[in-house]
Amino acid sequence: MMQNIKLRFHVSHILSDLLADCLSSLGASGVASVDRTEFEAIYLAQKDAVYATDAVDEYLSELPEFVLVEAWFSPENKLVGVQNNTPVLVDLDGDFQGELYEVQDKEPVPLCDVVAFIEEKMAAFQEFFGGDYRYLGAELIESEDWENAWKEFYAPLRLSSRITVCPSWIDYQANPGEELISLDPGTAFGTGYHESTELCTAYLDELAFREEDFFQEARMLDLGTGSGILAIIMAKLGAKYLEAVDIDGQAVETAKENFAKNNLNFYPEKSGDKKEGYFLYPGELSDTGGKFDLLVANLIAKLHVDLAEEYERALNKKGYLLLSGIIDSKMRDVLTALEKVGLKLKEARLKNDWWALVFRKPEK
Ligand code: SAM
Repeated sequence: MMQNIKLRFHVSHILSDLLADCLSSLGASGVASVDRTEFEAIYLAQKDAVYATDAVDEYLSELPEFVLVEAWFSPENKLVGVQNNTPVLVDLDGDFQGELYEVQDKEPVPLCDVVAFIEEKMAAFQEFFGGDYRYLGAELIESEDWENAWKEFYAPLRLSSRITVCPSWIDYQANPGEELISLDPGTAFGTGYHESTELCTAYLDELAFREEDFFQEARMLDLGTGSGILAIIMAKLGAKYLEAVDIDGQAVETAKENFAKNNLNFYPEKSGDKKEGYFLYPGELSDTGGKFDLLVANLIAKLHVDLAEEYERALNKKGYLLLSGIIDSKMRDVLTALEKVGLKLKEARLKNDWWALVFRKPEK
């Protein structure tokens, strides 16, 4: 029997993805959440197709308001140890940047230090987003199949009328017209379970349908590609020229793996003179070259405000800018900053507390 550690937390919906992200970057082998808001949203969207609605209503009404987040740490990735009957996480680097490396010469890190680190991160998020956070405790679990236990929480996720994200271990038969994106929850942000990604997907799907020729000819950029999810979706919807960048080099590596998993060829570098292809490389907006007809950025509100002038410069005339990851309380700030640099708001979409805004650069 192997021993693993399961850490448990209660958080507000608004913080749950950030916590999951933090736990993944610490090396959790799996992170799962039970989120009433998410269940309700999925249920409402599919209510007509659900039988036994009374039972579902009852189940939902019994779920707590907060989100239960559980993270598994396993000996396989050298993160778990036991000292004096107390679980410790080992092999984290000194300042907990989440790098994984061999355990041999590493001192165990007491679990309380790891929890303190997580708490510090969450306190910073709370300052920005609000919401509650509580650590519930750790459990040593003995399991022969811990590695697969968390997989039960994932199912194919229909993100828009044509796009479904499906974990690779699920054998799912796509319906006619449905594009399957194979994507496993990894250490980079972007499994599709966040509203900000879903809002972008829906908009991209509609744009590609409405303006098919534009979509195929456009020079596109996915800024902050994370797992590569939006770039993969753009490629599947017909993009011919696409740059996908992320300030986090590890995220770019994950994005490359996900491109390969979806049978998409790419160049692991800038485009140079090439007029077609997918280009994945680490960087920021200032590292990209040329101008874009469609720039997608799922970041945070403050970054959008800071980047407003750069966005404007990076767009071709009549180019689209799709900004996501904007929490409700900061939406006005983003709108004001982007209008100030001369971009025109075309659409604003809200899901739970998250906005996606679409701007267009005027012809002159
Ligand atoms: N595009 C994915 C999605 O929609 O699900 C992931 C979005 S995630 C919210 C934001 C990503 O942006 C992270 O992977 C982060 O590393 C990256 N990022 C943050 N600041 C950035 C910047 N200034 N330039 C480029 N990428 C950045």
